[in-house]
Amino acid sequence: MNIILLGPPGAGKGTQATRLVEHHGMRQLSTGDMLRAAVKAQTPVGLKAKAIMDRGELVSDEVVSALIDAELTAMGDHVGAIFDGYPRTAPQAGQLDEILAGHGRKLDHVIELEVDEDALVDRITGRFTCANCGEGYHDRYKLPAVEGVCDRCGSTEFKRRPDDNEETVRTRMAEYRAKTAPILPIYEARGIVSRVDGMAPIGEVTAAIEGILAKR
Ligand code: ADP
Ligand code: AMP
Repeated sequence: MNIILLGPPGAGKGTQATRLVEHHGMRQLSTGDMLRAAVKAQTPVGLKAKAIMDRGELVSDEVVSALIDAELTAMGDHVGAIFDGYPRTAPQAGQLDEILAGHGRKLDHVIELEVDEDALVDRITGRFTCANCGEGYHDRYKLPAVEGVCDRCGSTEFKRRPDDNEETVRTRMAEYRAKTAPILPIYEARGIVSRVDGMAPIGEVTAAIEGILAKR
């Protein structure tokens, strides 16, 4: 199964993708994570992408699609893919079709997480992750069970993203509205879009997604 999780920054795509990975053994393909890894490793892609990401603008279509293609090549054909933060533009949607065809895959579901824009700044400025395993947390909505200790791996190191500040979030939301939301009709025309209330508690959102995946 191959699915796209679509929604603005902070909608909960990464949070839900992690849960689907755990429950279904699927693979999360997050272009944001791939780009952050490239920035950290100071690869040519990372060196170019850093300033763009810090401004909250979009990295070029060719660069992110190449990252996705390489990742699909590296993973087994039988493993399902969860696209998180990709595609983000109409050209990327076209490139994804070609890439999937090249790997003998097809898209099964596009799941749109619907959220109030007002909540997103709050969600993103409160976001932090475990520096060791990447588990996601929030200052108010999802704190570790034991303060300062990761629920999943026990690490006491956490980190925050440099682009998770209010000014950059506003640019990222504008990019989403202008370039990403318009790709939904492409998938609506194929009858594969489902909508989920992303404002519900995390477990309820997961249950709603599970319900959609169980239908087919
Ligand atoms: P995205 O990957 O779409 O940018 P995340 O999954 O990182 O979003 O979620 C953004 C922040 O909101 C995180 O701190 C996460 O813990 C929190 N969060 C995610 N889903 C919910 C939810 N349903 N209710 C409240 N907080 C949530
Ligand atoms: P994310 O982790 O999805 O919030 O992405 C963080 C940043 O990485 C974005 O603000 C963009 O600068 C860049 N990025 C991630 N995915 C893409 C994509 N599919 N297309 C273009 N830029 C991307």
